[in-house]
Amino acid sequence: AAPPVAAKSAAARDDRLHVLHSWSAHGALDPLVVTGASGVHFHDESGRRWLDFSSQLVNVNVGHQHPKLIAAIKAQAEVLCTVAPYHANPATSEAARLIAEVAPGDLNRVFFTNGGAEAIENAIRMARLHTGRHKVLTAYRSYHGATAGAITATGDPRRWASEPGAPGFARFWGPYPYRSAFHAATAHEECERALAHLADTIMVEGGQGIAAIVLEPVIGSSGVLVPPDGYLQGVRALCDKHGIMLIADEVMVGFGRCGEWFAVDRWKVVPDLITFAKGVNSGYVPLGGVIMSDAIAASFESRAYPGGLTYSGHPLACAAAVACIGIYKDEGIIDHARRLGDEVIDPALQAIQKRHPSVGDVRGLGVFWAIELVRDRNTREPLVPFNASGADNAPMTMFAAACKQQGLWPFVVGNRLHIAPPLIIDEQTMREGLAIIDEALATADRYCVG
Ligand code: PLP
Repeated sequence: AAPPVAAKSAAARDDRLHVLHSWSAHGALDPLVVTGASGVHFHDESGRRWLDFSSQLVNVNVGHQHPKLIAAIKAQAEVLCTVAPYHANPATSEAARLIAEVAPGDLNRVFFTNGGAEAIENAIRMARLHTGRHKVLTAYRSYHGATAGAITATGDPRRWASEPGAPGFARFWGPYPYRSAFHAATAHEECERALAHLADTIMVEGGQGIAAIVLEPVIGSSGVLVPPDGYLQGVRALCDKHGIMLIADEVMVGFGRCGEWFAVDRWKVVPDLITFAKGVNSGYVPLGGVIMSDAIAASFESRAYPGGLTYSGHPLACAAAVACIGIYKDEGIIDHARRLGDEVIDPALQAIQKRHPSVGDVRGLGVFWAIELVRDRNTREPLVPFNASGADNAPMTMFAAACKQQGLWPFVVGNRLHIAPPLIIDEQTMREGLAIIDEALATADRYCVG
């Protein structure tokens, strides 16, 4: 049971009295009070140290309290903390140049926001203005943020409470080989059928009226779903055929998470717009944005772009982005992430899958993986039902508790554990974390049939 409120620290007490937390029913909340962090660890007010296997919300890519990032923020604070977005300033200009340099193709111009949802709102606005069309297609298994348009674009259950949402959105099924919506038996079949389904969706929604397809190149919080080779290329071809803008939502997977600057790079696909946030500066100061193609940028050469934010291009956030991109380059973090995925995480998870009947599927790329838990490997019945809560969710709660007992902070979504530590994690610590998960899975195995 939670200790009585009187025994709590001032931070815990004031939190309970005055802070409304995201996505939570407050009666049951007892949040950890985090008082510090370093590298791949953070600690709470009791002094307990946690191995951060979720990078908070999959954003602390270069690890906690990186000295160069802190120094850059301090240095910028000494010079210019804030400025209106109609001015130029060195931090914002340099961040935009560096982002354009690592972005694929002719995506050369950046509109800065405070985070991912605003990036989605603005990318959709740009696509609509550029094409003169309104409709937007998005995937059922997706999350794009919690503002009006972004939550409507979202496919996963977080959208339900905000429905009916904004007009003009339609949804489709993307590839998910383990739970194929297309009864496919191979990755190749899944790819072909998912593309045929998308082509049909475009046909019945009216391709000439569709402004954009928004998709996460590797789907993040809705499953860590890596598309089969050929899928993103196929989506690009469909967009080209119908004059639809392809918006790649790289908020979670951009900036190294999948072992590439952007996840689309793995398939050499160039979207028309990329949304980013999180990893751009590892979340040290809120920042997001949209990177647009030259053609879309040209749309706003002679007509005004009808959107803005007081903090667009905030100097502290942009100075953090400049430093963070420098760290990715100087420390070879993106190559490290790719190698860690291929050489350490993938084989370790394959071995874990063999040992545990509750592990139905393992999948991922770079330092971004999921273990999908089932009651029965034959039927693939999930360990907990879709969108489970309360008692229905007990098996996952118990599994998460077993991870926490060993000092690992897990990222649990539905019937999955997502594995997303900071990209700087060394091989030894990665193996230690995976060993904790291996042991904790015994808790999940107990719920398996047979
Ligand atoms: N898009 C994706 C793919 C995300 O994962 C998220 C957040 O997790 C968002 C958009 C929304 O970003 P924010 O929470 O910064 O608004």
